[in-house]
Amino acid sequence: MSYQDLLQRLGAINDVLTSSSVLVWDSRTMMPPRGVAVRGQQIATLSTVAAEMLMADETSRLLDAADRATAHLPDDAAERRGIAQTRAGIALHRRIPSALRHRQAELRATAQAAWIEARAKSDFAGFQPYLEESVALARQLADAIGWSAAPYDALIGLPEPGETTASLRALFTRIREGIAPLLRAVSAAKAPRTDFLQADYPVALQHDFALHLARTIGYDLDRGRLDPTVHPFEISFTRDDVRITTRYPRNFLPASLFGTLHETGHALYEQGVDPAYSRGPLATDFGNLYAVGGVSFGAHESQSRLWENHVGRSRDFWALHYGALRDRFPEQLAGVDDETFHRAVNSVRPGLIRVEADELTYDFHIMLRVEIESQLLDGTLKVKDLPTAWNEAIKRDLGLDVPDDRRGVLQDIHWSTGYIGTFCTYTIGNVMAAQLMASARQQLVGLDRSLTDGDYAPLLGWLRDNVHQHGRRFSRNELLVRASGRSLDPEPYIDYLTAKYTALYGVVPT
Ligand code: ZN
Repeated sequence: MSYQDLLQRLGAINDVLTSSSVLVWDSRTMMPPRGVAVRGQQIATLSTVAAEMLMADETSRLLDAADRATAHLPDDAAERRGIAQTRAGIALHRRIPSALRHRQAELRATAQAAWIEARAKSDFAGFQPYLEESVALARQLADAIGWSAAPYDALIGLPEPGETTASLRALFTRIREGIAPLLRAVSAAKAPRTDFLQADYPVALQHDFALHLARTIGYDLDRGRLDPTVHPFEISFTRDDVRITTRYPRNFLPASLFGTLHETGHALYEQGVDPAYSRGPLATDFGNLYAVGGVSFGAHESQSRLWENHVGRSRDFWALHYGALRDRFPEQLAGVDDETFHRAVNSVRPGLIRVEADELTYDFHIMLRVEIESQLLDGTLKVKDLPTAWNEAIKRDLGLDVPDDRRGVLQDIHWSTGYIGTFCTYTIGNVMAAQLMASARQQLVGLDRSLTDGDYAPLLGWLRDNVHQHGRRFSRNELLVRASGRSLDPEPYIDYLTAKYTALYGVVPT
């Protein structure tokens, strides 16, 4: 018996998980509304089948045999890493009682319905009992997984292995002190013109341009497709079928432009995973039972943010592509030149809603949520006091009064689905994107020239070599050290934001 026998077994588990992903994709793009109840059961069944296959004695037997057959290989060989990750996934599942999983899944369905209603009515009290149970179950989950310094550590470790409450606190402190003076200066400066972004943009033309953008930066449409949805996402069923979705609000053009670039960034990661890893343990997240090639949520987010912001919101990008956009929308963009457009899509305005936030205020929305989650988990904040804590933090960080809970504590779907611990990965993605971009600039002579010329192949090639191809073989920090010589480091991110916004707004941080 060999490593190949193990791969066959793990390939079958991956097949179950990717089949489940197809059902998820369908439910979020094509499925009629009444399909939702049975679809939930179908996905839950496949998830149980995959977990049973993973935990079965047969898998352990094949793992032991593969372990012996590959013992002579170095620790970071793909085979050794595949075995270690599968074992870690199994160990994690053994620690979590099935009754807890079951109750979490049950609660998810009812809590989500309660959240939708509570949000519509801006009625936090209607959602409070569900959130109280969600938090209690999350705490039980943390205790089952195990933690030493803080219970929240156990939950952060699921999407972002290696990150802790303490490491996040240090990261956030530095980001806060780096960005706050910049935000103060920009907020006091004259706001750019943005009215034309809210003109009437027909959906079909938006879709046409979104496809053009995705293709331009390297999305392979023979191995992907773009569909409309309410909440955009990327999902992959192996590197040869990686799909994205976007939304096309008629009166807000940036949503489809930057939403598409964002999801394409995620898709480029999955399309670039080494073909040898397909269906294998380095393209499957056994801990979270998800068929995905990216190594952590934060690493994945770094790829979407890099293409969305560092490339897609750059001056060079719109100098090149604005003409094609205006050809499609000559009336809506009449009298607007590329520079005006570039300033508009980079305008900064503190707001209440995370998903509408600009680059400079976005991390404040994340830091607030992470702070609250960690306090809920260790019991220093009670769910009933959540709206007050939320509103105070928004006032402190963004200077805004929250008029109702709909635009405050009830705005995100995350807590209604029981997911606590994933918000931090958005900021980690921002930090990591800037770090990788700075390294690519140092290592690739002529990178800026190629971006000015609209040739995205050198950048994509560098990301393929340094990030995408490795799938889940290296940890996030191993990837970063290999690519940039350092583990996660906020300085390139702060430098990037400072250079960008001081130039755009002509200000000095105060
Ligand atoms: Zn994303």
